[in-house]
Amino acid sequence: MVPYAFFKGKIVPLADAKISILTHALHYGTACFEGIRGNWNDEEQQLYLFRMLEHYQRLHKSCKIIKIDLPYSPEELCRITVEMVEKNGYKEDVYIRPLAYKSSEQVGVRLHNLEDSFCVFTVPFGNYLDVTKGIKCCTSTWRRIDDNVIPARGKITGLYVNSALAKTEAFENGYEEAILLTQDGHVSEGSGENIFIVSGNKLITPPVYDNILQGITRDTIINLARDEFGIETVERSIDRSELYIVDECFMTGTAAHVTPVTEIDHRKVGDGEVGPISSKLQELYFEIVRGKNSKYKSWCTAVYKK
Ligand code: PMP
Repeated sequence: MVPYAFFKGKIVPLADAKISILTHALHYGTACFEGIRGNWNDEEQQLYLFRMLEHYQRLHKSCKIIKIDLPYSPEELCRITVEMVEKNGYKEDVYIRPLAYKSSEQVGVRLHNLEDSFCVFTVPFGNYLDVTKGIKCCTSTWRRIDDNVIPARGKITGLYVNSALAKTEAFENGYEEAILLTQDGHVSEGSGENIFIVSGNKLITPPVYDNILQGITRDTIINLARDEFGIETVERSIDRSELYIVDECFMTGTAAHVTPVTEIDHRKVGDGEVGPISSKLQELYFEIVRGKNSKYKSWCTAVYKK
């Protein structure tokens, strides 16, 4: 099976989707991206793409921030993606990576007077973090980048050096994930995940002004918690020390799904086991992303024609 990508306006073998070493985005981080999951449903022999339209709407916003002209509407991007993924023919979970980038082969740091391009490819992709037993996190010595440095609400490639520094530091110190604090010391998010804490019968998650990426999984969980379990989410700043005394904690993200956090900075979260609210949200979320819940089927795009 040849993997295919969408590159320079058409679907081509992935091996032919090559760029020059002069490409602007490679040097200056001038690109925006998305991560979309395709979840395999074995019973139906179907691959479901989760909330793809929302991902492409966010890509448009990211592009606006760094002045990338996307020649395709979010709806057109969805059509291109389904066609490309279908041609790949995967019968397993996949990750889809759209990238809009400053493609001029020119030296000179700026955003203006440059060409823009778009490509998208897909790779097989299982679990990113351990979703069953919970993960160990540390608060990072690296602080989350501020909106007036690089806007964190945009999924901008250059910004991810901040995430990479934090993730590798955490990994090298024996943790699975880092929790980044804002410049003024509030909890922001993980290197590639939003964070929720559970206190009593409510969820608390950092607000957009604490330099988070407004996650689509975050939005999914806020909606499911409220509509299916009557659990409200409060969006407010969280102190670092609050993390040490909460009942439960979990992270959300397209790659991470809903990942329970069972230890932070060598302190057990709750009793150190995956908590009941995290578990029930995770269970429902997995059912929905695999297209197994008819109420939320509109969030899932089927790739294969039957
Ligand atoms: N924060 C960051 C920094 C991320 O990279 C991601 C992954 N896209 C998220 C949060 C979670 O966003 P989503 O749920 O839309 O994948």
